[in-house]
Amino acid sequence: MVRQNLAKPYQLAVVFVGAAALALSVIGFRVEHIGARFLLIVFLTIVASRFAVQIPRAATNITVTDAFIFLTLLLYGPEATVLLAAVEGTCSGLRASRRKLTVTFNIASAICATFLTAHVVRLGFGDSPAPDTSTPFSHVLALVCAMALVQYVAHTTIISVAHALKTDQPLWQTWTRHYLWSSITYVVGALVAGLVVRFGDTVGIYTLLLTVPPVVSLIYFTYNKYLEDIKLTAAQAEAAERERAEQAERHVEELSRYVAELERARAELQASKEHFQHAAFHDSLTGLPNRALLSSHLRLALGRVRRSDEHFFAVLFLDLDRFKNINDSLGHGAGDQLLIAIARRIEGVLRPMDTVARLGGDEYAVLLDSLSEEADATGFAERLQAELMKPFSLGGHEVYITASIGIALSTNGYDDPENLLRDADTAMYRAKEKGKARCELFDKLMHARAVALLQLENDLRRAIERQEFQVYYQPIVALETEKIVGFEALVRWQHPTRGFVPPDEFIPIAEETGLVAEIDQWVLREACRKVGEWHRLSPVNRPLTLSANLSSRELTHSDLVGRIKETLAETSFDPRCLKLEITESAVMDNAEAAAAVLARLRELGVRLSIDDFGTGYSSLSYLHRFPVTTLKIDRSFIGRMSEDTEKFEIVRTIMTLASNLGMDVVAEGVETHRQLAQLKLLKCEFGQGYLFSKPVDAEAAAALLARQVAGRKLFSTRVSGDLILPPASTYIN
Ligand code: C2E
Ligand code: CA
Ligand code: CA
Repeated sequence: MVRQNLAKPYQLAVVFVGAAALALSVIGFRVEHIGARFLLIVFLTIVASRFAVQIPRAATNITVTDAFIFLTLLLYGPEATVLLAAVEGTCSGLRASRRKLTVTFNIASAICATFLTAHVVRLGFGDSPAPDTSTPFSHVLALVCAMALVQYVAHTTIISVAHALKTDQPLWQTWTRHYLWSSITYVVGALVAGLVVRFGDTVGIYTLLLTVPPVVSLIYFTYNKYLEDIKLTAAQAEAAERERAEQAERHVEELSRYVAELERARAELQASKEHFQHAAFHDSLTGLPNRALLSSHLRLALGRVRRSDEHFFAVLFLDLDRFKNINDSLGHGAGDQLLIAIARRIEGVLRPMDTVARLGGDEYAVLLDSLSEEADATGFAERLQAELMKPFSLGGHEVYITASIGIALSTNGYDDPENLLRDADTAMYRAKEKGKARCELFDKLMHARAVALLQLENDLRRAIERQEFQVYYQPIVALETEKIVGFEALVRWQHPTRGFVPPDEFIPIAEETGLVAEIDQWVLREACRKVGEWHRLSPVNRPLTLSANLSSRELTHSDLVGRIKETLAETSFDPRCLKLEITESAVMDNAEAAAAVLARLRELGVRLSIDDFGTGYSSLSYLHRFPVTTLKIDRSFIGRMSEDTEKFEIVRTIMTLASNLGMDVVAEGVETHRQLAQLKLLKCEFGQGYLFSKPVDAEAAAALLARQVAGRKLFSTRVSGDLILPPASTYIN
């Protein structure tokens, strides 16, 4: 800081000394020196001062003006030289800067250095130092060296000091860095001047003076051009580098923005994952994984199976047997407790890599991962069953439960978790069919069955629109008169490739898929139309009843009553002639709702029958609550009442019950004369069965009716003699 303050006083001092030297030189200048040659030199110096070559990496310009300064020194002595230096300094000074002090300092430093050099040369080599052709080379060399060295050292030192003070840098460092190079100018300049004077007479000097500048200019421009090219290339390289750097910076910026975005998304994902786990992926009652989570575990396990041949796993589908009884008898609270306790028991027998999920209701599924043989899966299922067989304690009650288990193995080449679960489910159903409380492995046969079922389901969907259904009519007969009092409408499916498919096979599928409502509706409309026709044919036919089956699934269907009413209106069928058949269990399973629906149907005038009576459970005490007009005794009783006294007793009891409740009775499946005789003994009014007629198509049924109208005998049911009846004690009179 202190040194920087010295810069200005130093510059002023140099200016002062320079002014003094200039003044001395002006005083000593001899006017006769001003001739054409001198003016030419001055002119060329001014022109040459315009051209300065920048030395790369050094703050120094090289000019050819030094050569003219030295030439003047040799030809005209110190005073003229100092004046020329002042002129040259002014030109190059103004080019370098506009600041007054800098310009005057530059002029002054040139004057000072030149003044010193000129006087040193005068001191060493006399008043006329100019060599001529006789001057020995050593003398010329000494002269050249002295001129160059003094001028160089003096000039660069004066400038370096100012520079060093201004920039607060050490003098030596400043000098070597910025002014070392410029020694070339001084040496070359002095050498050119020395040689020109040594060899040239006056004419020679002129020639040289006139030829040197163009050559120098040429060199100057070429060199300058070269430097500019270098600069341009460097600038381009620099620009490219800068562009690359900026690009990299932008890239880094983008990358960090992207990373931040990812980070944010990850955090959100984690949060929502956590949110969904307690919520979307778990069952709220037991805390077990739900179907969605199990599916994703299964999907991962399937992926592992695809990657490695050694790996296989099993899915167990577990359904509790008679869980409904627990709910019905102990209440839903106890049912829930049992479901939780079962979840804990299953967890208790699992290995860490296994997963148990609750699929809903009383259904659970277990993923047994990494098994080595089939027996691992069945062994586990048996252990599980044994574990569940131990009693549960629910609110002071000891409760026993069993489970049916279906197993599907990943070795069957699955790629969808849903298919695995479906097959395990199918195997579970098989276990139920085979008597519950057991375990079944899904096999090829089941697979084929499942595929066939699926096919059947698809075909069923199209059967209605393709008109593959037909209604058959089975007569219902008054046993005493053997007259047809009505018909039961029974659906028939003529499958385009499989032929006749019995209703026992497809009605359960239709019930599961919800198609049954449509089928029943169609059958009802068709039968109402047909029986209505028969009604109109003859007054004999007028009391004919039509019995139509109503699937248990439909009973709770909201628009059932409306649909039936519509069909009756559409076909102009007398509601009092319609009997709707509902199975006992359909009514009992959902007693409250069923009672309400049945009451509304009764309001339409429609009569109601309980179908397959005797096969359901706990029905008798409820029966009077329902507005039922007819009981149809299931054919399993009728079929064996002749051999089985117990069955006969049941039929008798049902008869008594019906008469107490004021209901009609229809005996189903009457096949033999003997059964007919027994039923007559029991005072059973109506019957239906192969003994009279199998279900027949509309045409055949119409033919039967025509015979009846004509008063002809319909059935050959009379047999003579040897009826062996059950013990007389069992008869009622
Ligand atoms: P279901 O309502 O008990 O119908 C009586 C069944 O017993 C009929 O079988 C009939 O052919 C058969 N049957 C009648 N007399 C005898 C006999 O003397 N001996 C024997 N062995 N069988 C006799 P089908 O037509 O095969 O129908 C079977 C079941 O399919 C029906 O039992 C009913 O539950 C259901 N079903 C039939 N048609 C329909 C329908 O249109 N809608 C609904 N929802 N179910 C229907
Ligand atoms: Ca029926
Ligand atoms: Ca029946």
